[in-house]
Amino acid sequence: MASERQIHVGAVPVGGGAPVAVQTMTKTETANLTATMDQIRTVAEAGADIVRVAVPREQDAEALKSIVAQSPIPIIADIHFNHTLALKAIEAGAHCVRLNPGNIGGPEKVAEVIALAKQRGTPLRVGVNSGSLPKHLRQLEYDNPVEALVTAAIETVELMESLDFSNFKVSMKSTSVPNTIASNRMLAEKIPYPLHLGVTEAGTKWSGSLKSAVGLGTLLADGIGDTIRISLSTFHAEEEVKVAWEILKALKLRERGPDLIACPTCGRLQFDMDTVVAEVERRLEAYEDPIEVSVLGCAVNGIGEARHADFGITGAKDMGMIYSKGEPLKKVPTGQLVDELFKEIDRYYAAGKSVQRDEAAAAEARAWLAENEDETAMTPERIAALEAAAAKNDELAGEVLESMLTPAGAAAGSAAEDPALVLDEAVSPVAGRRFSRS
Ligand code: SF4
Repeated sequence: MASERQIHVGAVPVGGGAPVAVQTMTKTETANLTATMDQIRTVAEAGADIVRVAVPREQDAEALKSIVAQSPIPIIADIHFNHTLALKAIEAGAHCVRLNPGNIGGPEKVAEVIALAKQRGTPLRVGVNSGSLPKHLRQLEYDNPVEALVTAAIETVELMESLDFSNFKVSMKSTSVPNTIASNRMLAEKIPYPLHLGVTEAGTKWSGSLKSAVGLGTLLADGIGDTIRISLSTFHAEEEVKVAWEILKALKLRERGPDLIACPTCGRLQFDMDTVVAEVERRLEAYEDPIEVSVLGCAVNGIGEARHADFGITGAKDMGMIYSKGEPLKKVPTGQLVDELFKEIDRYYAAGKSVQRDEAAAAEARAWLAENEDETAMTPERIAALEAAAAKNDELAGEVLESMLTPAGAAAGSAAEDPALVLDEAVSPVAGRRFSRS
């Protein structure tokens, strides 16, 4: 269930049914204004709604004023252990301050921070970490870590309420995905405040993205969670933002940019689809509209399950086809598929989002499709469709969530200026498959 209460971090609403906000955290030395602002602009460009900066020292708190003034998105100051820095962050105009009331020096210091936050209208993110629960919960943590986390979070909420403060969101951080899911489910039933979700110290880009997708995706699919941060061990905070967006897009909670659908390939593939998909993904980065673009490795299925795609391509050894909403547009040599696909997409936008059809070219493409389609072939897509139908009949069908991007080291800049993408054997082996790359 979505949180009842809503707070505002700068101009960004969090909770109370607002779109799930994407957060990340800078990895630079905060007081290094140039480096920090560069990273903030990069993550904002990638789609971060809110960004957090670490404030462990006086000079970082001092830098906050300039950062807040220059940042295109709201700033959260991340404070630990030092309530003076929390006060300075609020004074500097931070749009939100993250702190753990249990570790900033006792009730009087908490009250002092809350008093200033109230006076300045600054929201707080309060929370607990599985690694630093209060002493009286240590045994419970050992016996039942989920209950210990939730108990600590509720004690924090009660402390805020006892100070007549309600302008806050809550986070419970754990490195365990099952504990993250169970504790947030439990807490969401007990409190009306917005929840910040994250799997803490999730890991590298690969494992961390998957853990986060499973943990946060499960909660978000239940309607739990108002803002998310993906924690990845990489300097490139924008990667965290991209993963967050893929999770939200996969769940259809938010839209941002195109959605690329691509078949997994199989032994029917006769052209270098790996390069084609990577190139399509790279060029799509230049588009903001949430169009759906599909890449199929062969025409054996016909257009099949990609029928709903706004645009798509399907290829064979030498020839391929471009289609839109299940209807062929034109047949083109395989080597020109990507360029011609983007010409069609650009024509669509130039015509005010209207697909431009040339009937002669479409008829030629339809004939090509009819030649290449094989209605009897048991392809992965048809097997999947049969399995889905069977599961539905048995009332066993559940929702299958697919996500995760594997950005192919996409370069910035417009497609027209970029050199062709070349994948090497380690990234995408050619050996043992039905095409060559040379
Ligand atoms: S049968 Fe399906 S998975 Fe195999 S190449 Fe064709 S579209 Fe891709």
